[in-house]
Amino acid sequence: MFAGGYNLTWFMILPLGGSSPGSNPGIPILNNKVYKLVKICKYLNLLKMVKTKKVGSTGRFGSRYGLGVKQRLLAIENKQKATYECPSCHKVKLKRLSSGIWLCNGCEIKVAGRAYAPWE
Ligand SMILES: [Zn+2]
Repeated sequence: MFAGGYNLTWFMILPLGGSSPGSNPGIPILNNKVYKLVKICKYLNLLKMVKTKKVGSTGRFGSRYGLGVKQRLLAIENKQKATYECPSCHKVKLKRLSSGIWLCNGCEIKVAGRAYAPWE
């Protein structure tokens, strides 16, 4: 729904800049109407963070490698970057230090676990 609104607004904005008489065809000029439209779109959050709504941390790969592979990687990376409950002090401060090693930022205990999550 948001992506549709995004495409529609740019479809509306682009002809306004080029077709106005006396404007330089090479350089896009933001006239008052376009400026107001962009301002309204920004107010309604239509131009903000549309790109990373689904891809998350795998947005760094751009259009490469395909959606299925990136979705599988995203599931793993979300587990890997999450914070877990410490088995010693029970604070939610257990973070991944490296593959299989988990460090609690509360009591500074190091726990051996699985590579991408401390447990299943
Ligand atoms: Zn702890």
